[in-house]
Amino acid sequence: MQVNNVSMNLSAVSSKQYPGEGYPEIALLGRSNVGKSSLINTLINRKSFARTSSTPGKTQTLNFYNIEDLLYLVDVPGYGFAKVSKKQREEFGVMIEEYLTTRQPLRGVVILVDGRHTPSEDDISMYQFVSYYHIPTLIVPTKMDKIKGNQWNKTVNAVKKSMGINQTDDLQLFSAETKYGKEEVWTWIEDHMK
Ligand code: GDP
Repeated sequence: MQVNNVSMNLSAVSSKQYPGEGYPEIALLGRSNVGKSSLINTLINRKSFARTSSTPGKTQTLNFYNIEDLLYLVDVPGYGFAKVSKKQREEFGVMIEEYLTTRQPLRGVVILVDGRHTPSEDDISMYQFVSYYHIPTLIVPTKMDKIKGNQWNKTVNAVKKSMGINQTDDLQLFSAETKYGKEEVWTWIEDHMK
């Protein structure tokens, strides 16, 4: 997709604040620091539109990025914060679960995992959760520029195996540094907007 116009329309803490236009939505999920802001900035050709490394403990919001009045990319704050209180984590979990399970315009999710490490328990739980609700999913191992080319197959196999990826879901390696995988991620998103 050729992206020229992007606006961050709104940050929502509850369903009443979600946008009403009905554009299809694709949500991006991943642990804090996995490279989610960098992926969003790569997709929309900006250097620092999505905030990078959100501060733990800050109010956690769903951020809706309006792309060309065609779709919303929904930035779901990183799960697995060590520093937020149990109460904050629970409230936040409820908000994400409500969004993922009841949001009518949601067409699919992109789950980012750090390509350098085996997916965490949080990554696996998140994937099991969205699979249970039959939400189409693209798994994206990030920071692939940090991994030698001859190890990429190993990464793919390790991620597939530990997450137990369904036949119906997809995997795409990605690097914000080299932009590897950018077009493929866009193609997946466009295929799921219909
Ligand atoms: P977020 O917390 O998931 O939004 O993660 P950020 O996008 O802020 O990235 C966290 C850190 O990882 C930053 O220091 C980024 O520069 C770095 N990073 C993100 N993506 C990549 C990548 O593809 N390659 C490399 N080498 N570093 C990356």
